[in-house]
Amino acid sequence: HANRTNGIDKNVWVEFTQLAAAYSKVNLGQGFPDFAPPKFVQEAFCHALNEGPMMHQYTRAFGHVPLVKSLAKFFSRVIGHEIDPLEDILVTVGAYQALFSAFQALINEGDEVIIVEPFFDCYQPMVKMAGGQPVYIPLRPVSDGSVLSSGDWVLSPEELASKFTPRTKALVINTPNNPLGKVYKTEELQMIADLCIKHDVLVISDEVYEWLTYDGAKHVKIASLPGMWERTITIGSGGKTFSATGWKVGWAISSGHIIKHMKTIHQNTVYHCATPAQEAVARGFEREYEVFGTPESYFQQLPAMLHHKKNKLASLLKSVGLKPIMPEGGYFMTADFSSIKVDCDDPSSKDEAKDFRFVKWLIKEKGLATIPVSAFYSPEHGKEFDKYIRFCFVKEEATLDAAAEILKKWS
Ligand code: PMP
Ligand code: GLN
Repeated sequence: HANRTNGIDKNVWVEFTQLAAAYSKVNLGQGFPDFAPPKFVQEAFCHALNEGPMMHQYTRAFGHVPLVKSLAKFFSRVIGHEIDPLEDILVTVGAYQALFSAFQALINEGDEVIIVEPFFDCYQPMVKMAGGQPVYIPLRPVSDGSVLSSGDWVLSPEELASKFTPRTKALVINTPNNPLGKVYKTEELQMIADLCIKHDVLVISDEVYEWLTYDGAKHVKIASLPGMWERTITIGSGGKTFSATGWKVGWAISSGHIIKHMKTIHQNTVYHCATPAQEAVARGFEREYEVFGTPESYFQQLPAMLHHKKNKLASLLKSVGLKPIMPEGGYFMTADFSSIKVDCDDPSSKDEAKDFRFVKWLIKEKGLATIPVSAFYSPEHGKEFDKYIRFCFVKEEATLDAAAEILKKWS
């Protein structure tokens, strides 16, 4: 086998999705809605399938033309920069492939990539597969007391500045963040942007949860800050945007001089993505363009619905002695389980991190699937953060109620 597969064979989604399928009654683990996407995108998909033979054939390699046009129209207004649909966008197989193409296209052997912890786990193996060197900087809770909100987790500007070296090529951020739900404020993004401009570093900004913010938090695109369009790759996901994670339509938006190199990777790997799914996402964005900012917009309806689910899950977790960190965005909630006293020393997981052992116990013994948070850290820092587990709340009321039943029984 090739050396590049060494050390990246373990994957939290593969492991915990299998465990959840085998043992759990209620799954608040892997992040996906257990309810249907909105009618208008389901209808758009059906419409695409019945639109004639061409909708079942290959389309443009770098993105179905109706989709890149609707993404350009929509995001030009959001970013405040005129986006060229053919030059500045690459449509990919989910946000995953946008990330992969970015690292492959931009990172050389030995380049350093700064990754903010906790991070969506695939950034690390993707940087390594490109020959890069991940350099980690943790978000830290402002105090060790009662940390109530993901907004209390911050970067130290001095610590971040110290991570830049002449070999730093890129920095990855994720806002709203998975798993914490942190939504970076303009000042925080400006601090990051200033350092990246000073050191001539690219920013890969994973914004798959961009429409999901709560309690007044506002999602800001780092690409919209002065001087950042030229050096930022903004990544989005049709699956997260329209609650259809199985469609696997994603995109990267950046300046044409960057996208050009990502196109080279894309044309020589997957070539292009499923045509009807792209057509459906295009129609979804056309519709959202028309109703943007009104209560009819799914980008208002989904967060409104999730706001309620988030609060419901938080009260439930508190009622059994878990300490949730309230997310400002996204669809996950992280909770401190250190006050829960259980014997979860299953012999098969003896050498594992505390949170991995606890989650395995929760799945196998109690039938409730969650995700251990140290999976979102580098091996060096995971130990400091192994008292947290992640719950997904983009779920039907009945699913959350079933989770409540389980939690209440063992508390
Ligand atoms: N980035 C983050 C932060 C995620 O949580 C996910 C999981 N959906 C992805 C990227 C990958 O998205 P997709 O399913 O569109 O490939
Ligand atoms: N992004 C989703 C999550 O964080 C799913 C990731 C995956 O299944 N690979 O749960």
